[in-house]
Formats: sequence, C-alpha cells, structure tokens
Amino acid sequence: MTTENEKPSKGAEQILLAQIKQEFTAPADAIEQYTDLVAQFAEENKVDINEELGQIKSGQEKLLSQYEEAFRENTKSDAQKNKSAEEYSELRHNLRTPLNAIIGYSEILMEDFEDDLSESCIEDLNNILSLSRDTEKAIEKFVDFIKGDLKPELSDDSGTSNVKNAESLFKSLGDLDYSLEIDESLKDADILIVDDNVTNCEVLQRRLGQHGLECRVVYNGKDAIKEVNRQTPDLILLDVILPDINGLELLKEFRSNHSADELPIIMVSAFNDVDSTAKCIKLGATDYLPKPLNGTILMAKAVASLEAKYFREANRKLLKELHIRATTCPLTGIFNRKVVFDHGEECFTNITKGLGSGFSLLSIDIDFFKQVNDTYGHPGGDIVIIALAKLIEKKSGSNIVGRVGGEEFMAIIMDDENQSINDFCSSLRVDVNNLLIPFQDIKININISGGVAHSSDSIGFEEMVNVADERLYKSKENGRDQITFD
Ligand code: GH3
Ligand code: MG
Ligand code: MG
Repeated sequence: MTTENEKPSKGAEQILLAQIKQEFTAPADAIEQYTDLVAQFAEENKVDINEELGQIKSGQEKLLSQYEEAFRENTKSDAQKNKSAEEYSELRHNLRTPLNAIIGYSEILMEDFEDDLSESCIEDLNNILSLSRDTEKAIEKFVDFIKGDLKPELSDDSGTSNVKNAESLFKSLGDLDYSLEIDESLKDADILIVDDNVTNCEVLQRRLGQHGLECRVVYNGKDAIKEVNRQTPDLILLDVILPDINGLELLKEFRSNHSADELPIIMVSAFNDVDSTAKCIKLGATDYLPKPLNGTILMAKAVASLEAKYFREANRKLLKELHIRATTCPLTGIFNRKVVFDHGEECFTNITKGLGSGFSLLSIDIDFFKQVNDTYGHPGGDIVIIALAKLIEKKSGSNIVGRVGGEEFMAIIMDDENQSINDFCSSLRVDVNNLLIPFQDIKININISGGVAHSSDSIGFEEMVNVADERLYKSKENGRDQITFD
C-alpha cells in the first residue's frame, strides 16, 4: 500500500496507461471482427440485416475514434488536469454513447432474426455484447485514471474478484430462459420517448415494439413539452442530455403538472453514477435506466412502471365505485339511508358543540304507492320513484336528501332565513301534485305525505327521526297529501 505522500513512479504510471488502453482497444477491435463475421454469414445466406449491421459498425467506429481522441487529449503532457466532476461525468457519457447502438442492435438481431441466423452468428453477437461490456469497464477505468482515482498500486484489480465470482455464479445457472409476459391491457399504453440521438430512439422503439408497445418519439425538450400538453402519455422515457432544455429541467417541469402516480417518467442516461441516479429520483423520476441499454432491464422497468400506474388507476376507480355503492341508491342515484342518518347525527353533534345552525328533518312517503305498482307494474313504480327522487333533490338544493326505504325519502333541511320549512314543504307538495310522470303513453300523477321534526325540539337525531315518522303517520291518518309539523 502507498500513502498519499508516496507518489507512484512515472514508469509505473506509463505501464498502467498502456494496460488501460489495451483493455479498451482489444475488445473494441474484436467487435469489428465479430461484426464482419455476422455480415459475411448474412450476405452468403441472404439475410437482410444490413441496416442493423450498419448501425453496429458505425457505433464501433465512433467508439474507437472518440476514445483515441480522448486518450490523446487527456494523456498528453500539457493535458488539462483537475477537470470538474461534471466534466469527467460528461467525458464518460460521451465515450459510452456509441455503445447504445452496438448493444441495442446486437440484442435486436439476436431476438428478431433468431431463426434466420446460425448458432455461430448468435454466438458472435453474444461476443459483441460481452466485448461491449468490457469496453464499458475499460472506459470507467480510463476516466478514473485521468481523474487520478486509479493508481498503479491499486490496479491489481481488487474489485474484479467479485466480478469474477458473479460471472462464475451466473455461469453455473446455464442459459437463463426468460420471457416477459405483458398483459394485453398494457399494449394500448402511450409511451413517449424523448432523446436527441436518433439511434437511441430507434433502439428503444424497436425494443418496445418487439413486445407490442407503441411509442411517440421527440428529439428535443420543446417538442416533448408540446407532446405531453397535447396528450399526457402513460410513460415517458427521458434522456438526461438534450439539445435545448436539459432532461432534469424537463423532469421538473413535467412534475409541476403531473404527479408520479399519474405520469411515470424513467430517466435514460449514460451518466451512470449513483449521484446522477439519486438526483433524478429526488426530482421525481420513477426510475433510472443506464445507457447503453440492456433490453431485459428496459422492458422490466417500463412494464413495472406501466403496471404500477394501471394498478393505481384501477384501484382508484374501484374505490370510487365502492364509495358510490356504499353511499347511494342504485335506482335513483340519490344518497342512501346511511348518508342521511350520518349527516343528521353530524349536524346534531355540531349544534350541541355550539357550531352548527338548527335544521329540520323531513320524512316523506308516497301515498297509495302499492296502487301505482298494481296499475302500471313494477317498472311504472320505479319510474315514479326516480322522478320523485329527482324532484326532491332539485328542490332541496345543497341540503342532503336520501332514499331511506321503498317509496320513503328523508331530507335534512338547514334553517334558512329566506324560506321557512313550512314554505319549503308547501312548495314541494304543490310541485309533487303538479308532477306528471311520463310512463309509456300516459302520465302518472302522485301525492305525498310528510312529517317534520326540528332540531330545537329534540334531544338527539334519533328522537328527530321518531318524531318526524310519527308526524308522517299523522298525515296519513288525517287523509294523506299533507305534511305535519307538530
Ligand atoms: P300508504 O299511502 O299508506 O303509504 O300506502 P302505500 O301503498 O304507499 O304503502 P305500502 O307500504 O303498503 O306499499 C309500498 C309499496 O312500495 C310496497 C312495495 O312493493 C313497493 N316498493 C318498495 N320498493 C319498491 C321499488 O323499488 N320499486 C317499486 N316499483 N316498488 C317498490
Ligand atoms: Mg306509501
Ligand atoms: Mg311506505
């Protein structure tokens, strides 16, 4: 071990530098060889994969040329030392970017052309994937080196033993047979891809398309905002680096109008460090996908985000439905008995606490309703119940009205200085008398009887209910078509 004061020798640094370069160029060159082998097979066997191979080739060329340039710039004697953390992060990002095309299109070839390509071709493509991962590791090491985080004494790869262990662990499992089951309901999902790199967009689109998922694509922040405003997507895959607005600003903007529950946003970036990931999550990202993309992880995360959103929506709908069922009468849509009674109890409690104003409880029953059923049948009776429910509800305004039994209703009418309860009831009774309820080719006419209790005459809501019902009974006894107040 060296201490901080003990600087490694220049010679040792040179050796390490050569090693680091070799660790990158060897796999990067080999990718070209394997691509050529696949191209040769495709040509001999007339498999049309020119587009995909072209993308892999151009990715490989960019990978090499960018690295060569970065290596030259950063290792020459007058190279700028001590760049900012952001600059190192950007360098790493740029060097890794061509890997998106290489990895993405290799995976696509293996999946889409599995039946057209030979076993050895598939093996070649697998090699390209594993070599890409090697170049990725070499890029990490290179950036660590120029940052000064990698010293010759530490280059004995203390960390690789774990990697080797992981590799042998997975090897022992053999080929993993994995297929992602996507629920049919997710196939209508509206996914928006935001990335300025056309190749990235194509890889994402093809990957998602393989599973029947369709996407909209935009290449800059402004268009992304327009698209989201036009129609909120079910999921956004958002690149961190965009030409106009940066992805993090865009994420903030989307979150100011759309909650994470409503709009999942997965950040996609080659800034593959813990800090960037944590920042995205803190800004409201649902998840984070490192570039170069791994198809399995992309699909798992995209599907998980969509499923979670759909599950939340279904849950919300179900709760709403349950609430409606628990509080309303299915025939008329007005409140049920429980809501009226709970509200009555609450109003009475408020009065005892000195908080609320006085109120009346009006109990209503249709006169001779059995005859309506006998004459027009049950459907005719139902139409009458619905029409009366609507009338009472409309007349009661913001007061609470419910159907508490077959043809029985209750209304809790808060004291109103502009209209006494007596005037309200007279007006209601007249309106009911004038109500002509259309059924088939006739109009049905009904009367109601009612009883009213006032909160100031009672010791509790239960007593109000009993008093109102007694007065309703009195109205019936006295000839119906009337409302009794005392
Ligand atoms: P009264 O003037 O004394 O109130 O006489 P009534 O005939 O209205 O009273 P009764 O309680 O004898 O009859 C009420 C009828 O309401 C009996 C029942 O079949 C009917 N009913 C209860 N619920 C419904 C419903 O949802 N739809 C229909 N069509 N009829 C219902
Ligand atoms: Mg009745
Ligand atoms: Mg009745």
